[in-house]
Amino acid sequence: MPAKPKFYLTTPIYYTNGLPHIGHTYTTVVADVIRRYKRMRGYEVVMTTGTDEHGVNVERAAKNAGVPESEFVAKMADAWRALWEELGLSAEEFVRTTDLRHVRTVQWLFKLCRENGYVYKGHYTGQYCIYDNAFVNDAKPGDNCPDCGRPTETLTEENYFLKLSAFQKPLLDFYKKNPDFIQPESRKNEIVSFVEGGLKDLSITRTTVRWGIPVPGEEPHVFYVWFDALNAYLSAVGGPDYEKRGMWPADLHLVGKDIIRFHTVYWPAFLMAAMLPVPKQVWAHGWFLMDASKMSKSKGNVVLPRPIANMLGMDALRYFLLREVVFGQDGNFSYDALVTRYNSDLANGLGNLASRTAAMIEKTFAGKIPKAGKLEAPDEALARETQAGIGDVLDYFEKMNFARALESLWTVIAAADKYLTTQKPWSLGDSEADMQRKANILATTAELLRIVTVLAHPVLPDSTAKIWTLLGQPGSVSAVELDGLRWGQLTTDAPLGKPQTLFPRVEKSEAIERIESMANEELNPSTAPAPAPAAATSAGSGAAAAAAPAASEKIAIEDFAKVEMRVGQIKTAERIVGADRLLKLTVDIGTEIRQICAGIAQFYEPDSLIGRKVAVVTNLAPRKLRGVESNGMIIAASVGPEGRPVLAGFPEDVEIGARLK
Ligand SMILES: [Zn+2]
Repeated sequence: MPAKPKFYLTTPIYYTNGLPHIGHTYTTVVADVIRRYKRMRGYEVVMTTGTDEHGVNVERAAKNAGVPESEFVAKMADAWRALWEELGLSAEEFVRTTDLRHVRTVQWLFKLCRENGYVYKGHYTGQYCIYDNAFVNDAKPGDNCPDCGRPTETLTEENYFLKLSAFQKPLLDFYKKNPDFIQPESRKNEIVSFVEGGLKDLSITRTTVRWGIPVPGEEPHVFYVWFDALNAYLSAVGGPDYEKRGMWPADLHLVGKDIIRFHTVYWPAFLMAAMLPVPKQVWAHGWFLMDASKMSKSKGNVVLPRPIANMLGMDALRYFLLREVVFGQDGNFSYDALVTRYNSDLANGLGNLASRTAAMIEKTFAGKIPKAGKLEAPDEALARETQAGIGDVLDYFEKMNFARALESLWTVIAAADKYLTTQKPWSLGDSEADMQRKANILATTAELLRIVTVLAHPVLPDSTAKIWTLLGQPGSVSAVELDGLRWGQLTTDAPLGKPQTLFPRVEKSEAIERIESMANEELNPSTAPAPAPAAATSAGSGAAAAAAPAASEKIAIEDFAKVEMRVGQIKTAERIVGADRLLKLTVDIGTEIRQICAGIAQFYEPDSLIGRKVAVVTNLAPRKLRGVESNGMIIAASVGPEGRPVLAGFPEDVEIGARLK
């Protein structure tokens, strides 16, 4: 068997002075979609992401946190890695710029550039802030420091320079020979005119920065920003030994539009100076804007991925990010648009088509997809439309036009809805002819659904896997080869999988309120109430254990008397969309009915709890769990290593509202 063609793509190496917001998530989601898509087209794919951990800002943030830089960046890298994993976005390679493999690669690249005569020692003069120990880029004499507001001083230091000026012509020639190198097209013109305007040599080391990769034998020089960070793409796949892995040059660097110049001018120039292969393509995407302004933590309009994933599922966020905006352009982010698309395209669109098709097959053909007989004109028309859809969707994927790919796919879904409405399989009887007609209609719909599921898989990996199982199709949907996908490959007579909820409809204002409330909890952890120690309301989070007072600490009786506990009776219990562990309960505590959230959903069926008497802490300040208000706490024992909650109860009959002492 011939070896698979390779495809290597990267997200930027994110700077570690904060945690990921929706902007970082967007780039990483797009990379993951391309990765899954390329795999289904037969490629061996490696994706790299990582963290940029050097520089003055990290030095400063570590100092503020009162920890050494190495400890600070290790924690940040862990947090980034953990979030990507939680969101299903782990890459094959997570490179940290403090990794030894990266340090070696940077030093090696410098050595090559120097041996080839493109490095010289010179002097850099700029405006310097002595309080922040940093040059202020682009500042003129007399300007104040943008960070602390104090006057800057003109300072000259010895630096190593890369002869970027020597690469004006080689770069312009390269752009001409590789017209697809810079995407989208509009960005290319901007870069070409920048290079045509002339290139200044670039200072690539600093002696005033301490936290960086040392230039061997030239201390106190450390490598400066881009010469350090950009190299991470190469160090992730072997660095000096890149030929062994066979992944270099990269096929695709995905970047935000603010850093395209560094990726399309500096980076190819560094590689040309070292006489190494240059990446094949750089794609710059736009921003998601909130109320038409760029998101930033200081503006307080940051959107976080986790609350959205918790409320609507990660697939919903992925779908929205790709469907809402043409890749490469700016777009608006609003929770309103997100939830609207979720309800219309996912809950009512794909989710509804899948569950009603499965339900009809279940009812009419005992849970097995029937074989189609001779197709009639409307069946043939739908088959043709779906087959054409395959071509359109793949074409748009190739052009990275994800919005149009999804639009085409949802046109096919709409066609299926219309087909069912006009063919009305539910109005047919039990005669042999009617049964055959029903078989044709349902087999046709199921085949359409199978094709839609395959094509949507790169964008909706979790829910399409569920639909695949629901349709009883063999193997895994991710293993289907897109190149061979066509109408007529449905596996019939296989039993359908267990029905499951794909995209439960949500009430818009409630969903938005809960997303915002969870985001608020995440952004301001110090102001949120500490999680309770008992398993019942802690939703099993590790933070609960950490927040609990040490067990050996003794309290006075008056401290205990502050806690009011009463007998309550559970009146209603229901699951909470987006919170696997939580149940929303209403509990009668004698004087009133309270809403209380309890982290027991994995161990107690909601119905089994109704009427049950439980011990309730009634004077706890109200707080929100996963965005749902909880007014009290149910007492439970925490059993076993996984902390399984067992509700405290009363073997004798007790009065509702009785106080526990
Ligand atoms: Zn300053």
